[in-house]
Amino acid sequence: MSLNHTTSQELFKRAQHLIPGGVNSPVRAFRAVGGQPLFLKAAKGAFLYDEDDNQYLDLINSWGPMILGHAHEVIEKAVREALPGSLSFGAPTRREVEMAELIISMVPSIEKVRMVNSGTEATMSAIRVARGFTGRDKMIKFEGCYHGHGDSFLIAAGSGAITLGVPDSPGVTKGVANDTLTAPYNDLAAVQTLIDANPAQIAAIILEPVVGNMGLVPPAPGFLEGLRDLCTKEGIVLIFDEVMTGFRLAKGGAQELYGVTPDMTTLGKIIGGGMPVGAYGGRKDIMDAVAPAGPVYQAGTLSGNPIAMSAGIAALSYLNDNPQVYTRLQQVSDRMVDGMKNNLLQLGLNYTINQVGSMYSLFFTEQEITDFASAKTSDLQLFGKYFHEMLQRGIYLAPSQFETLFVSAAITEELADTYLAANLEALQAIH
Ligand code: PLP
Repeated sequence: MSLNHTTSQELFKRAQHLIPGGVNSPVRAFRAVGGQPLFLKAAKGAFLYDEDDNQYLDLINSWGPMILGHAHEVIEKAVREALPGSLSFGAPTRREVEMAELIISMVPSIEKVRMVNSGTEATMSAIRVARGFTGRDKMIKFEGCYHGHGDSFLIAAGSGAITLGVPDSPGVTKGVANDTLTAPYNDLAAVQTLIDANPAQIAAIILEPVVGNMGLVPPAPGFLEGLRDLCTKEGIVLIFDEVMTGFRLAKGGAQELYGVTPDMTTLGKIIGGGMPVGAYGGRKDIMDAVAPAGPVYQAGTLSGNPIAMSAGIAALSYLNDNPQVYTRLQQVSDRMVDGMKNNLLQLGLNYTINQVGSMYSLFFTEQEITDFASAKTSDLQLFGKYFHEMLQRGIYLAPSQFETLFVSAAITEELADTYLAANLEALQAIH
């Protein structure tokens, strides 16, 4: 049983002469799992199709955005209807106002919001605003969290940075690196120590309230609340990076699910319905520091792009109007995770599975995974073998142990069972 990947292989050969590593974002290259990336040409519902016409059940969903599944009629219709005569204006539009109203109504912490074009832009901008607002330079991030590829964040970074072994990227100046302090995730005492050692110097604490970028790691009970208290006490801006979790774990993201309200929130992925969109927002008094209301500069030629806004408004409105989507996602995800636990039991294996809502990771380690150090105990070679066994069975997983999987609303119970049968066979094949 071996799928034909001839066309993908030819395209990859061409791409490698033209594009660094042959890809436009590092993890896509399959470096961590070996082999060559597939070149995709279409997607519908729960499925992806590659250039050799192989079909895959998709558990990445464009790294999160496609929560409703691919080619969802409501979103594609909105884009088609928006298109004539409105590719880009570089001037304010009605759609930006509607988008802002929708975001503010859904995300508890956001009183004012600024649209950008990616999650990276959102986090870079949020940090600048927090620094401008507090007049302080330093920030705290957590080991293994990924906040996009802005210089300040490529310190102990997760996702592709750890997958490729460059959590501290060359090219980031010492000056910038010195202003980024890091603590282990779920370790409040370490945060307190950093604050004590840098009195009145910390502008912001930024974190993924549920981490997806070292594999899925939930916050320990009290962790988010503890950070909230510390930030309030010390005048530090608490930023939840909800680029992955926003509109996924609940309509109002992780902050709604855990009932902890940050000062600022960064968004991306689902907010664009599949188009390149990001946003940052938060308390009015903080957001009013942003130009032209205030002195902190941030701008964008294509920000609030009309077509992207239309796709995003369609996606968010659908989620807002159909809360049963979240119940369904939970049910199907539980079925998949419970089924995997049964499979492991059946095979006498004791690997760790972390899950929050429709995000989960199977870690090839028996340790409890609560932070970066424990995530790194996973057997990466075994993960690579598992990845390829699943791919051969038509299941498309994230090509790294340090990523979460995303379940879409297009995955039915029947497809979940297909996935579970493949999971059992793949686990058997690698042991
Ligand atoms: N923040 C988080 C939590 C992310 O997961 C990502 C991307 O995966 C980003 C920020 C960066 O977003 P983008 O890739 O859109 O720049």
